[in-house]
Amino acid sequence: MTMPAPAAHEHPTLAEASAVMRKAYELGWISTRDGNISVAMSDRRGFLVSASGVVKHSLVPTQFVFVPREQVGAPSADAYPRPSGELELHRRVQALVSQGPLTVLHLHPTHTVAALYAGHRLADLCANFPEVTRYTRVGADVPALPATSEELAIACEAAFRPALGPMPHIVGLDRHGIVAVGRSPWEAFEHVERLEHICRIVLSAGTTIHGGSDFSPAAHTEPAQPDGSPTEANMNGVTER
Ligand SMILES: [Zn+2]
Repeated sequence: MTMPAPAAHEHPTLAEASAVMRKAYELGWISTRDGNISVAMSDRRGFLVSASGVVKHSLVPTQFVFVPREQVGAPSADAYPRPSGELELHRRVQALVSQGPLTVLHLHPTHTVAALYAGHRLADLCANFPEVTRYTRVGADVPALPATSEELAIACEAAFRPALGPMPHIVGLDRHGIVAVGRSPWEAFEHVERLEHICRIVLSAGTTIHGGSDFSPAAHTEPAQPDGSPTEANMNGVTER
């Protein structure tokens, strides 16, 4: 029997997801129509993603589109409302976790994008700040790729599936933004907030050496990977691949 698609506004997490996007706009982490968010259906028959081009400072639960798990490729030309242009990115990251709640959040936080633009590796930059490392795993940065492209979606999926260590909570997209995951929209939001705060501190201080730790991007030649140490985030965060 085929289940009918649920009415988007019946999903309780959508109120939280909408509030997160409104807050991100207030904080200047996106401009009016930027960013997107998806939340998994509790039975994993698909996910709900914010519609394409909607105004984020007034986002409401009725502006989400249901995407069935089995659906592949672009939506039909007459689909309305259309899902976010980053649908493929959401589809690939949502598919990395097969059960339980999951939010995938894409934003353009100013200082995080500036840190990437300045040549920092986000995982290295955060390594000496317990405020981040205790709770948030920062993955390898994704290189500059066209927004809404399949290449970007594939690169994001790869960044959330590291060869070593557990799944990160957040990855940076060079010249673009971040993708964060969490068990709820506000949990994903907190990962963005912690990283953005540290990027703001580091950029405010400049790229000088403090306490023997060199933040200069040129000083780091090894790829940044989460070490998988038993932090609180490992115990409480998203770990399934
Ligand atoms: Zn974007």
